[in-house]
Amino acid sequence: MEKLALLYEGKAKKVYKTDNQDLLWVEYKDDATAFNGAKKGTIVGKGVLNNLISAHFFELLAENGVPNHFVKLINERGQLVKSLEIIPVEVIVRNLAAGSMAKRLGLEEGMDLGGPVVDYCYKSDELGDPLINDDHIRALKLATPEQLKTIREMALKVNAVLSKYLAEKNIILVDYKLEFGFHKGEILLGDEISPDTCRFWDSETRQKLDKDRFRRDLGDVEEAYKEVYRRLTGKEVTF
Ligand code: 5GP
Repeated sequence: MEKLALLYEGKAKKVYKTDNQDLLWVEYKDDATAFNGAKKGTIVGKGVLNNLISAHFFELLAENGVPNHFVKLINERGQLVKSLEIIPVEVIVRNLAAGSMAKRLGLEEGMDLGGPVVDYCYKSDELGDPLINDDHIRALKLATPEQLKTIREMALKVNAVLSKYLAEKNIILVDYKLEFGFHKGEILLGDEISPDTCRFWDSETRQKLDKDRFRRDLGDVEEAYKEVYRRLTGKEVTF
């Protein structure tokens, strides 16, 4: 597989064309941003860890009936994915109150929501990814009600599979963000699933093992990402 022209560079990843028009080469970067790009930094080794962690989750989800864009790992920073026409909606699933939900509704972080809460945000850097609802998604023609039903079911299936799997690794899946897109008419889960896009807490201590360590200047950011990788795979990374 050949890496051809750079198609797109985002905050955390570069996407290249390949010699197969249905497939893209995604390279994960060490750059870290938060608060819509207002806070910038580097997390050494993050690109490698997020590439390997995402690949691990995508394989697990495919085995459990959640169709997704992952094809194979290329190297420690890169993976081959199916090209998607991305639906500009961030699908956020929450099990415990945290982050923007805790702030917006005045809830204590860690409050059990008694079942998953699904939020949708309009993917727009200029607008700051505003919260939207099913009707907005229909009105803005981002997805049809039928497509949104499929997306919601897939997002909840991800929750069931990952929450159970992570619990066995002593990790609470607090919340996460997913993106979906079309590939040859089929809706597939895309983007990444990593400590950049999820909140992971240690089951016993509730220690944060995710990007909140960077967002909130809690320190030991690299160590937290390595710990997630270690718990998922039983392996060490050597950097
Ligand atoms: P919150 O709404 O609390 O900011 O985020 C909820 C969850 O979705 C968190 O796990 C967070 O990491 C993820 N999330 C929401 N929006 C984004 C985003 O624009 N980028 C990334 N990397 N994660 C996001």
